[in-house]
Amino acid sequence: MSETDTNHTDSTGDEPATCSRRECQAPAAWALVWNNPKVHTPDRRKTWLACDEHRGYLSEFLGVRGFLLECVPFADFKG
Ligand SMILES: [Zn+2]
Repeated sequence: MSETDTNHTDSTGDEPATCSRRECQAPAAWALVWNNPKVHTPDRRKTWLACDEHRGYLSEFLGVRGFLLECVPFADFKG
């Protein structure tokens, strides 16, 4: 009996990148790079992906907390 891990793949390889907003399935158009100084070292980079519709919501969410470092077009972010 062999085990498979088809349900455990954590790779984002061929999966379409989608918006990080909960329950949003829209393709990512923006990458929001952020860091929470309380829990992350300064060189740590967290990334949220956002569609056009939720870019404002997510960037404001991070912005008001002082977490947002930069917002770049997803195409540029990948390249
Ligand atoms: Zn979205």
